[in-house]
Amino acid sequence: MTDETPQAAATTEIPANPEATGAPLDPATPVRLRAAIDALPAYTPGRPASAPEGVTAYKISSNENPFPPLPSVLDAVRSAAADMNRYPDMAVTGLTAALAERLDVPAARIATGPGSVGVLGQLVAATCGPGDEVVFAWRSFEAYPILVTLSGATPVQVPLAAGARHDLDAMAAAITDRTRLVLVCTPNNPTGTTVGAAELEAFLDRVPDDVLVVIDEAYLEFVTAPDSPDALAIHRARPNVAVLRTFSKAHGLAGLRVGYAVAHEPVAEALRKAAIPFGVNALAQVAAVASLEAADELAVRVKELVAERERVVEALREQGWDVPYQQANFVWFDLGEDTAAFAAACQEVGLTVRPYGTDGARATIAEREANDRLIEVAGTFLASRRG
Ligand SMILES: *Cc1c(COP(=O)(O)O)cnc(C)c1O
Repeated sequence: MTDETPQAAATTEIPANPEATGAPLDPATPVRLRAAIDALPAYTPGRPASAPEGVTAYKISSNENPFPPLPSVLDAVRSAAADMNRYPDMAVTGLTAALAERLDVPAARIATGPGSVGVLGQLVAATCGPGDEVVFAWRSFEAYPILVTLSGATPVQVPLAAGARHDLDAMAAAITDRTRLVLVCTPNNPTGTTVGAAELEAFLDRVPDDVLVVIDEAYLEFVTAPDSPDALAIHRARPNVAVLRTFSKAHGLAGLRVGYAVAHEPVAEALRKAAIPFGVNALAQVAAVASLEAADELAVRVKELVAERERVVEALREQGWDVPYQQANFVWFDLGEDTAAFAAACQEVGLTVRPYGTDGARATIAEREANDRLIEVAGTFLASRRG
């Protein structure tokens, strides 16, 4: 190519900094984008914290763990950081082996990814194409409709039943011959409810055995309900069931991005194939291994957060709130049309909660001071709402 070619001429004319020349920052482009992109709801991240002068702000909108990283995990990450010029272990060997041992499953059944949202993307990519259907409850995790729509598949959202719980009967009825994937989120984000072991088994009996059922257990560690399912045992007994877990919540590694699925070998193999190469970074790999080794220390923290959850739920019920049975590290406020007003009232006292349209709001169990403030603002709000 010579300097006379139009391409070369055009290239040299593009200003290095369009802002400096007043050129449009975002010129129209004839590039054709997929129609599925237009249909995508944007993921709403938790808003950053903000508070009035002199008041500590708390971001309780993303279900993060309020505890700082464990010293042993931080040490492992610091050491690994010295090798960041190298690619991570693409096979995620160390973490996979550690998980296999801890969960007592063959390593071939484990597939990792950049957060369990990453693994979920792999699950959808491995099972669905355009026209296929994915059944899940709604409201549930915001990432579900985004990932499904992105793949070109159709989200089939089944409204929650009374008590903000999965309506497993309606979900079974929503399965068609186009269904490839069913997502069961327990505890459910954002409503905090679990499915019962017996009702889940009865549901699974009704799902065709060529449809993959994924039990999303992002909040497993916080569950205390005696009737909650043992998803790993169900996975062992049923070839079409996979379990999805994350290091983001109880393990407190949200910023490092690592999660995994336990699935039967052909499915797990498909998930590894569908993964973005080197998706689980080196720091995340060593941190997750160190975190598994620190299980006892973590359990103490989880116990404290569960105790705080119980304290908050009890206080809210005493105030008169109708709080569903809460099993995760957050509480759900069923607010309807008052959702935005509640979120604003929380913001005024420095608490950033997560509002969901006109359904309700979710608040993460966080530092004790934040929890106390949440109880207080909820009480005031309820009193003023009653006039
Ligand atoms: C937080 C969450 C996840 C996991 O998120 P990652 O940080 O991507 O691991 C998965 N499912 C649900 C329901 C969640 O709330």
